[in-house]
Amino acid sequence: DKYVYSFGAGAAEGNKTMKDLLGGKGANLAEMSAIGLPIPPGFTISAEVCQYYNQHEKEWPDGVKEQVEQNIAQLEELMGLKFGDTDDPLLVSVRSGAAVSMPGMMDTVLNLGLNDRSVQGLAQKTGNERFAYDCYRRFIDMFGNVVMSIGHELFEEVLQELKDEQNVKLDTELEVPELKELVARYKTVYRNHTGHEFPQEPKDQLRHAINAVLGSWNTQRAQTYRKINRITGLLGTAANVQVMVFGNMGAESATGVCFTRNPADGTNELYGEFLVNAQGEDVVAGIRTPRNISELKDDMPKSYQELLNVTRQLEEHYHDMQDIEFTIQEGKLYILQTRNGKRTGAAAVKIAVDMVEEQLIAKEKAVLNLVEPTHLDQLLHPQLNQSEYSDGEILGEGLPASPGAAVGKVVFSSEKAEEEHKKGEPVILVRVETSPEDVGGMSAAEGILTSRGGMTSHAAVVARGWGKPCVAGCTDIAIDYEALLFTSDGNTIKEGDWISIDGAKGIVIKGKKEVEEPSFGSSYYTFMGWVDELRDMEVRTNADTPDDAVRALEFGAQGIGLARTEHMFFGEERVTAMRRMILSENKDERAKALEELLPYQKQDFMDIFEAMEGRPVTIRLLDPPLHEFLPDEEEGVRALAGELGISFQNLKQKIRVLKEFNPMLGHRGCRLGITHPEITEMQTHAVLSAAVHLKKDGREVKPEIMVPLVGTSEEFMHQHEVIDRVAAKVFNNEGEAIAYKVGTMIEIPRAAIVADKIAAEADFFSFGTNDLTQMTFGYSRDDAGKFLESYQEKGILKADPFQILDEEGVGALVKMATEKGRTVKKDLKIGICGEHGGDPASVRFCYQLGLNYVSCSPYRVPVARLAAAQARL
Ligand code: PEP
Ligand code: MG
Repeated sequence: DKYVYSFGAGAAEGNKTMKDLLGGKGANLAEMSAIGLPIPPGFTISAEVCQYYNQHEKEWPDGVKEQVEQNIAQLEELMGLKFGDTDDPLLVSVRSGAAVSMPGMMDTVLNLGLNDRSVQGLAQKTGNERFAYDCYRRFIDMFGNVVMSIGHELFEEVLQELKDEQNVKLDTELEVPELKELVARYKTVYRNHTGHEFPQEPKDQLRHAINAVLGSWNTQRAQTYRKINRITGLLGTAANVQVMVFGNMGAESATGVCFTRNPADGTNELYGEFLVNAQGEDVVAGIRTPRNISELKDDMPKSYQELLNVTRQLEEHYHDMQDIEFTIQEGKLYILQTRNGKRTGAAAVKIAVDMVEEQLIAKEKAVLNLVEPTHLDQLLHPQLNQSEYSDGEILGEGLPASPGAAVGKVVFSSEKAEEEHKKGEPVILVRVETSPEDVGGMSAAEGILTSRGGMTSHAAVVARGWGKPCVAGCTDIAIDYEALLFTSDGNTIKEGDWISIDGAKGIVIKGKKEVEEPSFGSSYYTFMGWVDELRDMEVRTNADTPDDAVRALEFGAQGIGLARTEHMFFGEERVTAMRRMILSENKDERAKALEELLPYQKQDFMDIFEAMEGRPVTIRLLDPPLHEFLPDEEEGVRALAGELGISFQNLKQKIRVLKEFNPMLGHRGCRLGITHPEITEMQTHAVLSAAVHLKKDGREVKPEIMVPLVGTSEEFMHQHEVIDRVAAKVFNNEGEAIAYKVGTMIEIPRAAIVADKIAAEADFFSFGTNDLTQMTFGYSRDDAGKFLESYQEKGILKADPFQILDEEGVGALVKMATEKGRTVKKDLKIGICGEHGGDPASVRFCYQLGLNYVSCSPYRVPVARLAAAQARL
């Protein structure tokens, strides 16, 4: 079996489609090598080996050892070097890389192959003894840390000690004798910690390093990252072994990371950082403060131009913005990695539109590949209003690492962030810098603030990927973890104090500031125009007020798929009339109370119809159990008794009678309208008289009345009759008729099962997947939080079924009902209005079933539009 794939010298055994096997890094190294880019040669050990290793007590599958040796021999031949050679040694890097990029999750070892002899060989060959010993001490540090789990700070301490002894500030000021001394001290650290000497045999070093990469797949932090990002179904990580190139060979050498376009706002410019005379890890780890890539143009104009050319070639080849790592060794450019770059929502949209306009890609590809639904979600993020704060309130300025405003209480540790988040407290995680151990806390926080690190530091990269506001490298603040506070220019901010951050401007503000809604740039409208051109499934919104309706229209809603009328009864005057209706002793009293509610309802519907300008509006009849409208605190009961002119005891008794053991399965939905048809009558009257009223005004109205919680066709027919009877009466009185539809929600499993019978009577179906999920699983919507997390941790559920439609179970009912309904009525209009209507995966599922529309909350409308287009493409 083949487990090891070589690349280099203009050829490769793998290619970019082999990510599952070779990981993103390995597949792209192969691809770049094959198209002739300057890639140091090497080989990739496939993710199958990782899976085997982790399942078979850290053994390699048969044949891997030989294939690795063979590939090393090939590299030796190609380079004319020898692994572990005393005169002219081959040095390699060993890096991880899974199919999905996981920033900072996995470990890297550089300069592998160095030992007490070959370090002299390297010195001789390069004529640079300082360089050789610098490589060696880095190797001991990294190998000790990654492979043997020795804390990096133990090496840092020794380095600092030596620098203090020598009275120097920078690493680069250490001369050869000191570096030799440093190597000796590092080896002591290694011995003290591991109990044995630093391994001198390169083949042993390589085996250990490969194993460390394979094992790192299962570290806690890697598992946490995969869980948060819902990464499942991968074999493991691949391991890449690659000939070393050196960015630390002097003033003509450098290393850096860069994006082919600005990942924060999308501007078409080279964007990144570099360090002269340094190795890659110095940039990523934020140890030295890197310089802006634009300065490379002055320092090394030829290499800069070469880099520009390579980035163009990469974009043309990959049809996407790239995030690359490069090294310049004595004036020669090498590319060490490329991948599609993570970017903010605003950048994603701008890049997609620009690339179409630059004719790099077609519209379809831009819509399908360059913007993710979560990017749009991010675009809708709130911003801080500048007039909200004064300059005096600015605590500090850092890098605008990830846009959006976040407001929360300061916490200094990830544990604390997670703890407060569980209690529902918004927090800002404040750290000197973050590391992969912090991902749990970063995820729990509203925003992230670091005092050290650049635009490509761990905090910045992770925050941008998640669309979480982040200010990085804010050197104005001084953090004291012990005292749990930070200071800045005379201000002291303690744990628990409120701050606000603006990740687009990079500023930190004292106190709890208001945030405001974002505005979209022109790229957004261009892009969404293409989205709408390319989709054929309708997107509606769930809206109960004219305000919601107007917002949803701005977001592109094509109608209202669900107006929950119960939300209209909570105003002060209305709730009293509503309560009177609920508590009335007989039909007459009830009719009188409903009479009071009618004008309110009519006005509500007029406002909504007007706002929707002739688009369809689905109004659902009253749904929740009635006692939800009644007070349950003694104080409220007393006040209500006074208002209604009945005794406290009497009212308490009535409320007790209404109370249900299992209200979600109780007297609610169409059951209310069947036992009290006058409720349905009043609501129908309000809907249709409002519609007629507007029609007389010359406006178009498309009312659709929806009956909730139907389980039998008889229930639906009963309500349908009531609606038709009232309609006839209204039209007769008004001397004007209007077309209306009567449909039902499918949210009880029985309704899905008898959907053909119901369809015979209904104009449309709308899946209420909130209730359908509740009743199919038998999980109470309001109580499932108690066990769903534990279910997901134990792998019993992959996701929360109230967020992502359970295709296997609930989805099977949706499918069945759709098919059964359409056997009776070929063109039956079918939609979904549960929360799932705004979830991209669920939208795709609905599209595949042939649903006519999805309906979701206003803020999810752009996401659903994109998901619908992507489902079609
Ligand atoms: C549903 O059950 O999916 C639905 C949309 O109705 P509600 O959430 O109001 O019960
Ligand atoms: Mg429901």
